[in-house]
Amino acid sequence: MRGTFGLADFRPGQEEVIRCVVAGRDTIAVMPTGAGKSLCYQLPALHLPGTTIVVSPLIALMKDQCDKLNELGVAARQINSIVPAAEAASAISDIEAGNVEFVFATPERLEDPAFIASLRKTRIDLFVVDEAHCLSEWGHDFRPAFLSLGAAVQSLKKPPVLALTATATERVLDDIVKVLGLADAEVINLGIYRPNLHYRVHHTAKESAKDQRLIRLLHETDGGGLVYVATVKHCEGVARLLETEGFPVAAYHGRMAAKPRHAAQDRFMAGELKAIVATNAFGMGIDKPDIRFVVHYDMPGSLEAYYQESGRAGRDGEPAECVLLYKVEDRRTHQYFMGGKYPGADAILAVRDALRDLADSGSAATLSDVQERAGTVARTKVRSVLAVMKDVGLVRELRGARYTLAGDVPAAKLEEIAAQYAARQKADRTKLEKMAAYAQSAACRWKLLLEYFGEGDGIDRCGTCDTCVEPLESRLVPPVPRERPMLSR
Ligand code: ADP
Ligand code: MG
Repeated sequence: MRGTFGLADFRPGQEEVIRCVVAGRDTIAVMPTGAGKSLCYQLPALHLPGTTIVVSPLIALMKDQCDKLNELGVAARQINSIVPAAEAASAISDIEAGNVEFVFATPERLEDPAFIASLRKTRIDLFVVDEAHCLSEWGHDFRPAFLSLGAAVQSLKKPPVLALTATATERVLDDIVKVLGLADAEVINLGIYRPNLHYRVHHTAKESAKDQRLIRLLHETDGGGLVYVATVKHCEGVARLLETEGFPVAAYHGRMAAKPRHAAQDRFMAGELKAIVATNAFGMGIDKPDIRFVVHYDMPGSLEAYYQESGRAGRDGEPAECVLLYKVEDRRTHQYFMGGKYPGADAILAVRDALRDLADSGSAATLSDVQERAGTVARTKVRSVLAVMKDVGLVRELRGARYTLAGDVPAAKLEEIAAQYAARQKADRTKLEKMAAYAQSAACRWKLLLEYFGEGDGIDRCGTCDTCVEPLESRLVPPVPRERPMLSR
């Protein structure tokens, strides 16, 4: 640990997790953002003789960690869609030869039988799932490909598994256990309370009031931070606004080209910016310890998302501000988008019919084939329909990500799938309600967060959030004493 990573002591929880992993036990670790989850697999991996697989949802995150390890002189390779073919081929032969300590891969890669076959040629003695909440549809970053990880673990002859996440409600933990087959896992849950994060909500009636609040906040707060927005339009608008005010800022969203996006991130990491104005495309795995504030210009759709994003502040343990700018209409915007997110029975039927037609014409179908055939159904919807149909055994995935119907698909089964989507949509609604309730509550913000994440008996008052510092009563204008009605003579 000292020699390779230059670290002197463990942080809370790390030693416990690392001991479990080194002892070969399946382990689930729930540790706050910034607690140091990476060390929990990196250190054991160096002690184990074989290769460690790290599954991670984001390519940017993967590249970052892989580069860092290589700089430390540790052999790490990444396998994902942006690695050039020649580099991937050489990585695969290094892996097969057993010359690699770490293999970073996306969950989609672990659905590829050829990749699994390569991994089977070497000794895999630790299987890590980072950001493990992504495998639960109750989580906020659900990624269907994560559902296949259980099968991948099986085909790699069940190496010890380590699942890492910062936020896990009871339901998400259940899913982690179920999907990865971790019934006997050691669960180490550090809780989410971080007293250096000061939570606040500002109620605003309209967008221009949010703008004024934001500008004031940036003037009043030292250091750099993040401003999260919900849409690309807001991202560009708010960035322009802050620039006009003279703040050095940059926009960051998923529709920007890779080059300016990376440039924005680099400038932020180097401390050149007061703020980066970003959609949720920014952040997972961002390792900047001195983020002094995280402002949410738009309300996120769940407290999981809110906690994870705001939790990027103050990783160095110094005080940091987490501010939500809340406008009642924000909730309606979410409800609107939610309506279009889940495929209804018609989309599911369209995918089935597409698969049927394609089967008649001879060859097994790729995602693109299915989408082309299914007409108006969006690609992401086709993808999640396929994932769910595969999960319930109605679709089989063949070599090279090709899909075929598993025999006859009865309408009753399709209805069952539609019901699953409806349930997911309902769950999303509930989450949104809880998020809005947080914004509107007069209780201690930490108390609300802890209760939501099942740590209810934690604290009653954090003493630092807006409702603790400035209780509701003190903010109300004292009522004007009503005049006693005059008695008529
Ligand atoms: P997480 O994945 O839990 O959000 P990371 O693994 O990215 O957190 O670690 C956050 C930061 O903490 C990194 O900069 C890492 O180098 C640092 N860190 C991790 N463990 C220790 C430790 N024991 N002592 C000092 N710094 C540490
Ligand atoms: Mg991490």
